[in-house]
Amino acid sequence: LPLDVQEEIECLYEFVPEVEKHFEVVDKIGEGTFSSVFLAKLREYPNVDQMFALKHIIPTSHPSRIEGELRCLLEIGGCDNVMGVELCMRNKDHVVIVMQYFPHEKFQDYILHMSITDVHDYIKNLLIALRRVHMYDVIHRDVKPSNFLYDRKTKRYALVDFGLAHKAPVTRSSNKSTPSVKTSLTRKQGLLTESKKENTNTCSPDSKVDSQDSLSPDNKSRQYTPDINPTAYAKKLKSPRRLLLAKRALLAKEKQDTRVVSKRSSSSRYVPKACQCFGKPQVCSLCTARSNQNAPRAGTPGFRSPEVLIKCPDQSTAVDIWSAGVIFLSLLSGRYPFFRANDDMTALAQIVSTFGSEQVKEAAKACGKHVICCPSQAPVNLKTMCMRLRSAPLSKATSKKFLKIDPEAESSWKRMPDSAFDLLSKLLDLNPLTRISAEEALKHEFFSEKVF
Ligand code: ADP
Ligand code: MG
Repeated sequence: LPLDVQEEIECLYEFVPEVEKHFEVVDKIGEGTFSSVFLAKLREYPNVDQMFALKHIIPTSHPSRIEGELRCLLEIGGCDNVMGVELCMRNKDHVVIVMQYFPHEKFQDYILHMSITDVHDYIKNLLIALRRVHMYDVIHRDVKPSNFLYDRKTKRYALVDFGLAHKAPVTRSSNKSTPSVKTSLTRKQGLLTESKKENTNTCSPDSKVDSQDSLSPDNKSRQYTPDINPTAYAKKLKSPRRLLLAKRALLAKEKQDTRVVSKRSSSSRYVPKACQCFGKPQVCSLCTARSNQNAPRAGTPGFRSPEVLIKCPDQSTAVDIWSAGVIFLSLLSGRYPFFRANDDMTALAQIVSTFGSEQVKEAAKACGKHVICCPSQAPVNLKTMCMRLRSAPLSKATSKKFLKIDPEAESSWKRMPDSAFDLLSKLLDLNPLTRISAEEALKHEFFSEKVF
């Protein structure tokens, strides 16, 4: 073992002595933002072949985050391609989650070896895992290849890493259609509710979000007033009672804005007035002075859905379906990562350039947001794009890496069925309200095609 790994293992033994008592840690298998994962075997039972993955969570993680992760593994995991938990050890602020070791390779090492049948099976199994998680009204929030482990030899799959998971503030009606789910929802109502009490609808403080964007415990996203033009809004409302309510809401919002502005520029007295920039490609001083809209944005760039990028506070399990769609897009095009962006606006621009500006605008409207795109951009045809990318010559580095691609796998890409792209477009529906659910997606004709 390299010296630094040996040192890390020694540190792990020191932090949580129970680990050394029961396990012989033999290697390090992964490192994420919030943890290091080690490979270990049982000391007391040398004849047991089962290996274990020990996830040592960084001690600065918020206890509610650790609690949430454990609850998900415990209550949701253990079936339907969702990783379960065997044991958890704690010493002071160090927590080690023990799971069954799941052999897997890196996505970028097998993506081009996969045939269309492999991709079919992979997406089906990912959707089976998501159907399970979404039954509990839990959003995983970090669906990406490194959190969906795939053992190519045994054709097994495991969704891991519930570090960013949280209860969905908005329930999708189709999730509750199965009676068995209703039972488990009642039985497992405790799931994540404790952490929810402290941290309503929030990402945990240390999740993959900018601190200014994470919701503070007192920030109730359900009390969201959309950013609207007061006059346009008033015109839309015909009934006097609704008009009165709208006026009250606007007054309250203006009061809030006044407070924020006066805090920032205490020297000049602030007089509330109608915003000047609504619908224009500019931001007026009134709007720059507004308080930030808070919405959960935990996750990994490139896999964030449009509603996360435009800061919709009412997010649902549809967030994970988008990420699954991005993985499917990678697999169909043979390109990983498909979207690569350092900030949310660049990520949104990449979505616009693939799915079209009018389409993004329409979807944003459904979320109560107004998006301005300049210049406008037509959508690309997903099938044509994927076929082109698939047949384009590989870069030098990639072709060196994939020297021996199975000819059968390669030729299978000439028979991409249209149903694959129909499913892809439904997973990557820009509007979260109409985006397909995991349960519905599993009934899609792509999964009943005879060719697979
Ligand atoms: P993080 O929150 O730090 O991303 P993860 O739970 O995703 O932590 O684990 C990091 C990596 O460790 C994973 O991408 C995977 O490669 C490996 N890993 C996690 N759990 C297991 C497991 N049960 N078996 C094998 N490898 C695992
Ligand atoms: Mg991870």
